[in-house]
Amino acid sequence: MTAHAELAELAEIASTCVKCPLSETRTTVVFGTGSADAEVMFVGEAPGFHEDQQGEPFVGAAGKLLDQLLGEIGLQREDVYIANVLKCRPPGNRDPKPEEIEECKGYLRRQLELVDPKVVVTLGNFATKLLLRRDVGITRLRGQVFPWWNRRLIPTFHPAAALRGGAQVLAQMREDFALARAVIDEPAVAEALVEPRPEQLGLFG
Ligand code: URA
Repeated sequence: MTAHAELAELAEIASTCVKCPLSETRTTVVFGTGSADAEVMFVGEAPGFHEDQQGEPFVGAAGKLLDQLLGEIGLQREDVYIANVLKCRPPGNRDPKPEEIEECKGYLRRQLELVDPKVVVTLGNFATKLLLRRDVGITRLRGQVFPWWNRRLIPTFHPAAALRGGAQVLAQMREDFALARAVIDEPAVAEALVEPRPEQLGLFG
């Protein structure tokens, strides 16, 4: 089966998921969208109001900014794959709970295996902490390229933080997106930047 077909099959399975109580309050499961052949995958936190209504990740204000930043590095939504740590909206957009992440992370793990991107960009603290397994805030981790499962992982802020935080956060996100572009185009760029650390080599969970 192709990665595309397997992703579609997994999305179908996820669409009726009841592994955690978020299934009782969600409108739609937001599995993920984009190309199964994408070289870069973006991982956010969880669907918000608009995503929950429409079934697609990053369609609200944060999503518009994501589209803009993608456009600035010559990419469109269709060229990349976009997913979240949680596939269902936490009520009132509260933070994901550890047990929800635990139940949901198998979907993200499989999405990563199937899309098999060269570069993973984590958007914000939740995605970064889950994938990188480091309890260090995004402000200290961003701007760097980490080796991660034969790929490169680039943590950056969540677009919602740039919407709240103003010019400096946005400028740093632009730097991080440019870094992702450079690593996609020329993986040797990353070799010059990264120092492999043993604790980053375990697959999350
Ligand atoms: N914030 C996220 O983390 N993901 C979305 O899909 C939308 C907003």
